Amino acid sequence: MAIHGEWILFTLMTIWCVESKYMVYNTTSKIVPGKLNVHLVAHTHDDVGWLKTVDQYYVGSNNSIQGACVQNVLDSIVPALLADKNRKFIYVEQAFFQRWWRDQSETVQEIVKQLINSGQLELINGGMCMHDEAAPHYIDMIDQTTLGHRFIKQEFNITPRIGWQIDPFGHSAVQAYLLSAEVGFDSLFFARIDYQDRAKRKDEKSLEVVWRGSKSLGSSAQIFAGAFPENYEPPNNFYYEVNDDSPIVQDDMELFDYNVPERVNEFVAAALSQANITRTNHVMWTMGTDFKYQYAHTWFRQMDKFIHYVNQDGRVNALYSTPSIYTDAKYATNKAWPLKTDDYFPYADIINAYWTGYFTSRPALKGYVRTMSAYYLAARQLEFFKGKSKSGPNTDYLADALALAQHHDAVSGTSKQHVANDYAKRLSIGYEKAAKVVETSLASITRSSSKTDSGSPVTKFQQCLLLNISYCPASEVDLSNGKNLVVVVYNSLGWKREDIVRIPVIDENVIVKDHGGNEIKSQLLPLQKASLAIRNYYSMAYLGKSPSVTPKYWLAFSASAPPLGFNTYFISSRKRKETTIAAPSKNHVVYGSKGKQKDVIKVGPGNLKLVYSANQPKLIGYISSRNMIKESVRQSYSFYSGATDKQQASGAYIFRPNGTYSTKPDDQASFTVLRGPILDEVHQRINSWIYQVTRVYKDKEYAEFEFTVGPIPINDGIGKEVVTQISTPMKTNKTFYTDSSGRDFLERIRDYRKDWTLDVNQPVAGNYYPINLGMYMKDDNKELSVLVDRSVGGASIKDGQLELMLHRRLLQDDGRGVAEALNETVCVLNKCSGLTVVGKYYLKIDPLGEGAKWRRSFGQEIYSPFLLAFTEQEGNGWTNSHISSFSGMDPSYVLPDNVAMITLEELNDGKLLLRFAHLYEVEEDKDLSVMASVQLQKIFAHNKIIKVTEMSLSANQGRAEMEKKRLVWKVEGSSEEAPEVVRGGPVDPATLVVELAPMEIRTFVIDFE
Ligand SMILES: [Zn+2]
Repeated sequence: MAIHGEWILFTLMTIWCVESKYMVYNTTSKIVPGKLNVHLVAHTHDDVGWLKTVDQYYVGSNNSIQGACVQNVLDSIVPALLADKNRKFIYVEQAFFQRWWRDQSETVQEIVKQLINSGQLELINGGMCMHDEAAPHYIDMIDQTTLGHRFIKQEFNITPRIGWQIDPFGHSAVQAYLLSAEVGFDSLFFARIDYQDRAKRKDEKSLEVVWRGSKSLGSSAQIFAGAFPENYEPPNNFYYEVNDDSPIVQDDMELFDYNVPERVNEFVAAALSQANITRTNHVMWTMGTDFKYQYAHTWFRQMDKFIHYVNQDGRVNALYSTPSIYTDAKYATNKAWPLKTDDYFPYADIINAYWTGYFTSRPALKGYVRTMSAYYLAARQLEFFKGKSKSGPNTDYLADALALAQHHDAVSGTSKQHVANDYAKRLSIGYEKAAKVVETSLASITRSSSKTDSGSPVTKFQQCLLLNISYCPASEVDLSNGKNLVVVVYNSLGWKREDIVRIPVIDENVIVKDHGGNEIKSQLLPLQKASLAIRNYYSMAYLGKSPSVTPKYWLAFSASAPPLGFNTYFISSRKRKETTIAAPSKNHVVYGSKGKQKDVIKVGPGNLKLVYSANQPKLIGYISSRNMIKESVRQSYSFYSGATDKQQASGAYIFRPNGTYSTKPDDQASFTVLRGPILDEVHQRINSWIYQVTRVYKDKEYAEFEFTVGPIPINDGIGKEVVTQISTPMKTNKTFYTDSSGRDFLERIRDYRKDWTLDVNQPVAGNYYPINLGMYMKDDNKELSVLVDRSVGGASIKDGQLELMLHRRLLQDDGRGVAEALNETVCVLNKCSGLTVVGKYYLKIDPLGEGAKWRRSFGQEIYSPFLLAFTEQEGNGWTNSHISSFSGMDPSYVLPDNVAMITLEELNDGKLLLRFAHLYEVEEDKDLSVMASVQLQKIFAHNKIIKVTEMSLSANQGRAEMEKKRLVWKVEGSSEEAPEVVRGGPVDPATLVVELAPMEIRTFVIDFE
């Protein structure tokens, strides 16, 4: 070793002697007051899946698609930063960082920790991915951010300071106030805002604002937010990846092409031009873009030279910086900033290019993500009741898969098909593992220690993920041999709840009993041909086999379950009275028979009636005798044909309609009404590729629309974007309301933007907004709300009308990089056809001012449907040997109507992570927009709480600590204080009562005895 060392020393000395002109660049510059400071922020934007899968991007495989290897990026950053301690770098996507971290030796890990401690390497944003802001639900945004922040806290004891949403295609109010301010960020940066908005903001130097995203939380949850002048890349001619062709700084006088003065001039010119549209003497240059810094040295070598020569020149001051340093510099100027409210949707990058198609792109993936999101929430509750297993199975894999799925090319629907498949595969593996947690937890809870002798076998529960295609082997069983089908109905909400359970059965002679042994009302609905066709095709496609039996009926019954608990129901064989089978009503089975029928058909066994005209036949009216509402309502389907012209086609991102067409009934159209004591169903075959079931329940005040859309025909060579419209004569004055990431409702006005005078070039696409929870419109005396079961796009193109885009199939790429047409197919035995999507939306009309109750409480029920688990039992002994009713909470307690528990999760150290969300905004509901209180000790009836610590939203720091550090930004034009915002007070350790003000979400870590 010694000889080796001497040799290196000798060699180095030789180099120094011969190459005496070794150049030391002065990169020490800091902020210089009084000069224009150019903050060079070295960064890489690493999509957690897009053209390649997350793992392909990490290891650098599949390079024929895109030469990208994140492992190279992180590997090359370390020596580049070590080479000069003034150099800085930020890293964002934790899904990649964690993969890399696991691969490193302890030595490298130690070096990286030092780089992080010194501020040379800064982890910002810090979620597993850079989530999309249109398609994810706020609960998923919180979960994926928490996961990334937890890792950063554990490994580095760091809390990220900066929001960095540089690529998502428009920005949600929830991102600003919840996922930025409430996680303790000091600022939020992004690139994509509407081109018209950007132009005006450049003019007015208002790209940087104080963004107040929530009416309810106001200035208490505002954030400094900066939109970049163009995009998240360097200025033109300053790209320095190995094979980029921007001119390098050639400063060796002995070589040809010496160009230092030219390059310095160009640098200064670009800086001054940015300064012209920016307040204060600080501008940020985002030095990097997608998957750059695979050979970090090339970037840093050029930046070293620029900093050296530009500062020698002295007109401007260039420095290595980070968004944190930049933010602190902005803050130190003590300036007041323009106020921004609401959000940055929709986004158009150029004329006629509205990125509003992705609100709906890949609707099946969107539905899958939402289903898994709710399942993850419920599974973590059951995991806690049982006790989390570190070695598995546990919910960790599902957590990771869901986190990846929130990426801005995942649930957004803008990845290549093989990547979309990868997200779905991860969700599927995660589900399998979480399902085991659910099944073993239910087996352990139902197996009461007092009731069961220890020798009895553990119950094997089954679940039915494919109920949406009428496929449930667990319930499609023969009960004629005297067996009982045991159905455990678990409710993950904090309220007691009743809902209709529907499961496929093979025999009509079945009855349902509750756990008291009483037969309860049930109803059979014949399984329609349309459902069977989907069931058979998709079970072949997904499972590779045809179902062995064919169910004949849906069995529907009303189930109730206590909060965070379950009730058990028993299905057994017995001849039932025929009247409980919903039979097609004779009068209106067939479509098209003229003249003989009554003029109208009223549907609905309870207070709500839907009225259909018998001749057409179609929906014409909505009558609620309970609310005294009578409204003319029409519902229809139509499609936009996707533009295909070269200038701008409709595609995965962009919605560009080229004409609209109503769906014409063809010879397959049919109309059938099924009536029963629990619900009525209207089956409509709209045309050969749209089928709809409308359900009106006896005890529910809303109508449920289940649509089956697809395969969308393309044999005419035209891509189609399928929408449904709800039309009324309501005078809505161009105004409607859509939710922000499933939370606050924002007012939308057709052909209008609050922030600038809109030049309307796409009257349809430019009026579309992302819908996660729902949308509504109102007139002088009522409001009409539509709620959805997944994220979709929605609009109100005409007064009195709401429109949802349900599915899209397109034949052209829209030129934003994905380089594939959005043409989803499903294959059986190498024969492929267009994807069919089954989904639901819900409709209710309320007297003005009363709609929020339904949107909020029922919205939570849509998000968290009952979780069903099945097992079979010989004879009737279940209730003697098992616990058949359970609540995780004190049986006398329920959460207040305006509060949802959005997280209950056992952490690896045995502590509990708990989150409550107030569901109402200020002034949204006269009764429920008030302070709510939750009694913690009643929620944990079975555990003794010894400590409650309130945390930031992502639970990586104490709330109080976060508040202490918060930067208080000034808002332009408001000399007086902003109105006082009400928030819940501190939790008294004696009473353990948690207060929640409207729209407040509070996060706690709980220690149990
Ligand atoms: Zn991206």
